[in-house]
Amino acid sequence: MTALQPTKLSGIARPADVGAMLAEICEHFVEHSDVVHADGVATLKSQDWTIHIVTAEDVLQIEISTLGEEALAVTRTMFAEHLFYFAGDEPFSLEWSKPAAKVKPPGFHEATVVGVKDVTPRMRRVTLSVADVSPFLDRNMHVRLLVPPKGQTPVWPHLQENGRIGWPDELLVRIYTIRCVDAEARQISLDILQHPAEGVATPGADFARVAEIGQQVAIMGPGGGGLPDAQDIFFAGDESALPAIARMVEDAPSGVTMRAIIEVEDAGEEQPFGGLSPVHVEWLHRSSYSVGDAHVLVDRVKTALKDVEDETFVWFAGEKADVRTIKRHLAEKARDRRRQYVAWYWEKES
Ligand SMILES: Cc1cc2nc3c(=O)[nH]c(=O)nc-3n(C[C@H](O)[C@H](O)[C@H](O)COP(=O)(O)OP(=O)(O)OC[C@H]3O[C@@H](n4cnc5c(N)ncnc54)[C@H](O)[C@@H]3O)c2cc1C
Repeated sequence: MTALQPTKLSGIARPADVGAMLAEICEHFVEHSDVVHADGVATLKSQDWTIHIVTAEDVLQIEISTLGEEALAVTRTMFAEHLFYFAGDEPFSLEWSKPAAKVKPPGFHEATVVGVKDVTPRMRRVTLSVADVSPFLDRNMHVRLLVPPKGQTPVWPHLQENGRIGWPDELLVRIYTIRCVDAEARQISLDILQHPAEGVATPGADFARVAEIGQQVAIMGPGGGGLPDAQDIFFAGDESALPAIARMVEDAPSGVTMRAIIEVEDAGEEQPFGGLSPVHVEWLHRSSYSVGDAHVLVDRVKTALKDVEDETFVWFAGEKADVRTIKRHLAEKARDRRRQYVAWYWEKES
């Protein structure tokens, strides 16, 4: 096998406020990388990439270093998407020393639906066949699922020169977790929650309900990390986080101690976990809550965190407002942010 060569790419970002954007970049990436930030210069270093950023008057000079061209393309797109997200509605431009070619985005894989079944009454498993399963064998476990309109020739996304992804309007795009991988069969499975609400469309959930064997879709990824590198882990979340928690529990090597607090609709939604290390799960049943019990999961997690050691890795995912509350709570406890993953997986419509 040929060793991957060190590769670099430089870029210039023009945000409305360079200082504010650099601060936001550092604030966000501290949970995904080692961040050193002082005097307008920042270095973000993960296992797969280093991103060096220098403030120069009204621009941010960026240099991305990775091993190999593929990792460089993945990192450029990941970083470009973040920068545009941070810019929001403010004017922003991004140029690279070598513009991205108009090709399919890194990590793009066409896939075919080969199985659909209910895991529990509200959790539907969709199994997809992919030509190359090897990218899905490591710990990274989140993907974008791309569903074209049924009966039409799919139009897939392409990269734009600034590294961002250009999305065709008609494509349904939702993020899910790879619940399990069957390397031999070259298949991956996603567990997709059914969360019906009267008068509200739920396109991702609907896809899982009506998916047909042979249906063409695509996935992009994987990304977003997976099992934390820790000896003791505290997991918590709702059903959107359940596939991720189950996957990590089953990926954990023997000897890791784990506990979890998971909120589901009722006892019928509880799932057994496999794996080498046992996990103690406390299931919360939403259907048993009294009217007005809006914060049961968050309150229970806050109480449980009183007994969680500083060395324990804290993992929490769920609804945006709950995640914000838990983030604030952890910040008040002044925990090391490298020993936590707190991410919102969906947003309640107000
Ligand atoms: C990293 C990551 C991993 C994820 N993994 C999974 C996974 O493995 N399985 C999974 O089912 N979801 C997962 N999610 C969450 C999923 O992407 C969202 O729930 C998504 O919004 C569902 O799309 P939809 O089209 O069904 O509903 P949307 O069109 O997004 O929303 C329609 C309505 O449903 C509400 N809604 C959306 N999601 C939920 C929910 N989970 N519970 C209750 N109401 C909801 C919205 O508030 C809105 O009112 C993940 C999200 C992220 C970011």
